[in-house]
Amino acid sequence: MQKLYYIFLGPPGSGKGTQAELLEEKNNLPILSTGKILRKIKEEDTDFGRKIKAILDSGQLVPDKIIEDLIANEISSDASKNGMIFDGYPRTIVQHESLIKRFSPEDNVYALFIDVSDKEVQHRLGDRRSCNCGATYHLRYNPPKNDEICDECASKLIIRDDDKPEVISARLNVYYENINPILKDLEKKGKLIKINGEQSIEDVHEEILNKI
Ligand code: AMP
Repeated sequence: MQKLYYIFLGPPGSGKGTQAELLEEKNNLPILSTGKILRKIKEEDTDFGRKIKAILDSGQLVPDKIIEDLIANEISSDASKNGMIFDGYPRTIVQHESLIKRFSPEDNVYALFIDVSDKEVQHRLGDRRSCNCGATYHLRYNPPKNDEICDECASKLIIRDDDKPEVISARLNVYYENINPILKDLEKKGKLIKINGEQSIEDVHEEILNKI
């Protein structure tokens, strides 16, 4: 059966997660967010949890083998029988090649590259706020109704450890070291769709809908 896949690519803070959620509402496809999965594991009081925490808090990438083991079940789960939306995966050429192999020729695959400048990324991540319940906000673009309080569960919002300024630069470096071969391959395969990420959330969503 033909499946539908959306792959969100772009620097940290480009709005991949937000746009993935907007598409999820429209398409009724599950989102696979490796960042969300890893942040949950990072809270576990186990050796594995502590290992993941150290990697995330340094802005480096979790090794490909661990990522592949974590996502294998989700990708082949019943929930993804019509397709899936990928947020934050693939991050390396090894992950990209492993993902591409899973698709059948008849599947519809859209790789959405949300393009945002470095300067804007630095600015955006500093203003990002999160809640332990999973909700995310941005003080300028998507503010909570009450100052720094979660709309969903009324907890005090926090700055993710990896959104702290010293980690942001490391995350950007890691991103640039890995993204180009992935973009090149998707372009060669005619699957890459470039989106201007420096617009309002609604306008980015609109551009995505117009281009897919
Ligand atoms: P994100 O929320 O997507 O920005 O991910 C937060 C952090 O989780 C990243 O800075 C990485 O340390 C880690 N991470 C998320 N997805 C991946 C992935 N596909 N491969 C390796 N590390 C990842």
